[in-house]
Amino acid sequence: MAELPPIITLGCDLGGTNVRVAVLDGGGRVHASVKRKLTDRNPAAVARELAEGAREVLESVGAPLSRVEGIGVGTAGQILGSTGMVLVGPNLGWRDVPFGDLLARELGRPVRVVNDLSAAAWGEASVGGARGERNVVLVFVGSGVGSGLILGGKLYEGAGGLAGEFGHVKVVPGGRPCGCGERGCLEAYVGGHNIARRIRELEAGGAAKAILKAAGGDPTRIGGSALEIAAEEGDPEAVALRDEMAQMLGVAVGNLVTVLNPSRLILGGGVLTGMPGLKRRTVEWVRRAGQPAHVRQLTIIDAELGDDSGIVGAGLLGLAATPGV
Ligand SMILES: [Zn+2]
Repeated sequence: MAELPPIITLGCDLGGTNVRVAVLDGGGRVHASVKRKLTDRNPAAVARELAEGAREVLESVGAPLSRVEGIGVGTAGQILGSTGMVLVGPNLGWRDVPFGDLLARELGRPVRVVNDLSAAAWGEASVGGARGERNVVLVFVGSGVGSGLILGGKLYEGAGGLAGEFGHVKVVPGGRPCGCGERGCLEAYVGGHNIARRIRELEAGGAAKAILKAAGGDPTRIGGSALEIAAEEGDPEAVALRDEMAQMLGVAVGNLVTVLNPSRLILGGGVLTGMPGLKRRTVEWVRRAGQPAHVRQLTIIDAELGDDSGIVGAGLLGLAATPGV
């Protein structure tokens, strides 16, 4: 067994169906990881499952829990700053869950719980594509849409820990309903679930034939990939829908760049990585909509750590939250 580094921390990525726990060193390198399926979304059961995962991965590297200097958990939703209170956890169906306390009790150690995209931004700004940069904006478009903000070298979570809810900026007042209960949010137009929903609505009205064909004629397979294929083939409906999405997303991100003046913008998430044409057009809109001086100071990059951005960032934030380290 390879010798363990002097400092180890645990990074956890808590999703709606799985939890992944990794052992990292102080430089954010992943030494081992385990993934466990969540069979029960009850908060106490999830805390037990995560603690089991922690014990399992530590055993795989031959380290006792006492060797761990920090524990960080990234999860989608609104987390009340450093208190570990999950106000809204959409993938787990949670509201006002003191998950940090529950997990700390299971492990007998303090735990930092953080929004998953804040964790990803921290990972990228610490040891990923934006390392060394002090002003970094990360925008991920997957089934949901969100952002993580590193401002002046610090994770920015806002007055009550709710900053970065970029999917819920309004792009069409009174527009399409969003999963958050509001209307007209960016996520209601460009989030993965909503792309599929929008195409199915077109299809129900007798349109979107080329998109349906690109999905192999199977309405259940309609989504961003089929939209991208049909748009690349020049289907006018697909092109119009994709252009509209790129404009909404790109203008919103461009506005964010104008307000925050970051040196790096990281664009990622399943929808953008699976739809390169959408991503290209979105970048064009960011450059067009952001103020020219801001755009000149900006470099747009991919998430260098890929799927590990969040787990690495969570682990490093867990380390930073432990006094004395
Ligand atoms: Zn919303």
